[in-house]
Amino acid sequence: METPVFRPEPKDGREGLTYVCGCSCTPTAAPAEDGAAGMEHCCCGKVHFVGRGAESALSAYLADRKATRKREPEYDRGLATIALAGAPTEVAWAFPRE
Ligand SMILES: [Zn+2]
Ligand SMILES: [Zn+2]
Repeated sequence: METPVFRPEPKDGREGLTYVCGCSCTPTAAPAEDGAAGMEHCCCGKVHFVGRGAESALSAYLADRKATRKREPEYDRGLATIALAGAPTEVAWAFPRE
């Protein structure tokens, strides 16, 4: 799958990242103050984490959903490092497979 195009978007007074989701939302995730990954799970089922440990946080999140939900989709996942507020920042995403 193609890498989504991430762009900066403020969230709760912090610098975050969003992408063109395809629904009417602007799903934005921003790292916590200590740099730990923050996340957003869009209404359309796409989820992304931004910050330190983004990939492992995404893995834990999806494993938990798979264990606790009856109908959980398969996801296409990706990982990138994107400059955010001047610092390379880990971004991990999972989009439901069509
Ligand atoms: Zn939406
Ligand atoms: Zn969406």
